[in-house]
Amino acid sequence: PIEPWYIGGPVIKGFGRGSKVLGIPTANLSVEGYSTILVEHPSGVYFGWARLSTRGVYKMVMSIGWNPYFHNTEKTIEPWLLHDFSEDFYGEELHLAIVGYIRPEANFPSLESLISKIYENRKIAENALDLPLYVRHKDAPYLTGSL
Ligand code: ADP
Ligand code: MG
Repeated sequence: PIEPWYIGGPVIKGFGRGSKVLGIPTANLSVEGYSTILVEHPSGVYFGWARLSTRGVYKMVMSIGWNPYFHNTEKTIEPWLLHDFSEDFYGEELHLAIVGYIRPEANFPSLESLISKIYENRKIAENALDLPLYVRHKDAPYLTGSL
């Protein structure tokens, strides 16, 4: 287990390919103000809890890094909320409690292998977040306080 850490801000526009290419929407957060925290945490796949200001708290699995498959030049913070939303929520305030680490960032030989790894990681996150060890972070003041 890792020491939980917390980041948040309004949901911003990403590269517009999360849902379109992969079928996996990721709510991008601005990295502005988080340079220190991002240096302290290795790039890779994490899981935890996400609070959307007006909607509630959801499980999430998140990539932090450069997405080597897409050759990004900027580090991104991209949580996939494990819930079906009927609409986009750009601009809404999103707070994250990051409670677990799954794997380091990696490159993939094909889009299919990337996608299947992401679904595997989603399953791991979903199961882990049901454990008492991780469930208790759902009530973190950072998530339950008024946004
Ligand atoms: P972008 O490149 O702009 O981040 P994506 O293709 O990654 O676009 O889609 C992310 C957007 O989709 C989010 O900003 C949010 O408004 C919306 N969205 C809908 N459902 C989800 C979800 N389950 N998890 C994350 N974002 C979602
Ligand atoms: Mg995205």
